[in-house]
Amino acid sequence: MKQNIRIVPHIAAMERSGIREIMGLALEKKSVIRLEVGEPDFDTPPHIVDAACAALKHGSTRYINNTGLSPLRDAVAGFFQSSTGVATSADNIVVTHGAIMSLATAWHLLVDAGDEVLIPDPGWPNYTMLTRLLRGTPRHYHLRAEAQFQPDLAEIKGLITPRTKMMVLCSPSNPTGQIVTKQFVEGIMRLAREHDFYVVSDEIYSKIVFDGEHTSVLPYDSDNRAIVIHGVSKTYAMTGFRVGFTRAAPDYVVQAAKMQEVLVSCGVAAAQAGALAALEGPQSCVTEMLAAYRQRRDFACDELRRHGMTFWRPQGAFYLMIDVSEAGVDGREFALRLINEQNVSVAPGPTFGCLSKNFIRISLASSRENLKQGIERIAAMLT
Ligand code: PLP
Repeated sequence: MKQNIRIVPHIAAMERSGIREIMGLALEKKSVIRLEVGEPDFDTPPHIVDAACAALKHGSTRYINNTGLSPLRDAVAGFFQSSTGVATSADNIVVTHGAIMSLATAWHLLVDAGDEVLIPDPGWPNYTMLTRLLRGTPRHYHLRAEAQFQPDLAEIKGLITPRTKMMVLCSPSNPTGQIVTKQFVEGIMRLAREHDFYVVSDEIYSKIVFDGEHTSVLPYDSDNRAIVIHGVSKTYAMTGFRVGFTRAAPDYVVQAAKMQEVLVSCGVAAAQAGALAALEGPQSCVTEMLAAYRQRRDFACDELRRHGMTFWRPQGAFYLMIDVSEAGVDGREFALRLINEQNVSVAPGPTFGCLSKNFIRISLASSRENLKQGIERIAAMLT
């Protein structure tokens, strides 16, 4: 007799990301204008692809060290040291299978059942999913649209309990594109010391900044409670390489390396050779992509304004939030109708949290023509 598979209940009950739901629909249809996914539309720069191919040709086809290739760890350490001024060596670095694995490792190492995790709302859905996976309790702090999605230190302080184990910071933010201030970063690290919790700082978009300056938590971490997440996926258009990295205290890195063994054994040598070429090679590709995202951001904002829509101009990353409450349905319903009726895929606001229930997120990692047509069709649904 057939049986239902008895999936662990907290995983069966876990909601999946709404971005992937819409992406699944987009992949099944023809000629969809794709504005939902956070993936650079540029080709990976050729010198990076060449380095990965050369590595394969020269025998990089085997298991590697759990912590990642030594030259890459050195290069990543150099990256953190030069961008933050904080002394960093390879002992502070573990290379992972994409930045998501750096995040998943942090949750595995720090979140015990019942521990509370402070998570931004709106925020990338994976933070809440990871918390549920580890049987922790998500406690959301609010990024209010009327405050330009800036977090409020006093509100966060009010959410802290003796069970607060860690806080997640994502700046520039997915999905809002906003950057937190230096004062906020200083304040949050002070709170973390006073109340003894860790700060997982997802800085994957730190090189995609249009206005203002990104502030890393690292210079404000005086006692090793910052776990900084980065990677090559977004900066270098390398999402398919799956290379991310964590900068943390050496004793954390030892445990993180152990976790790679359980979860993925190790990274992929050729992909890491590509990442090394990205970090050590010419950075003009990054400057060029950044200029293109900035142009698209400005273009999209002009178009949205022309159509009289309510939106928030992002300071960084490549996302832009639009308020669709005029449509009289929530952001998920709107995104479903939009793909069915107008062949445009966008990320539904509710997947990022309660405060973005009536919003949608569009990705600026798409061509100008796609943005123009996509915005026109969104506008058509609002009139
Ligand atoms: N962190 C944020 C905020 C992201 O938006 C993403 C990908 O969308 C990641 C981490 C994961 O990056 P990777 O593709 O390197 O795993």
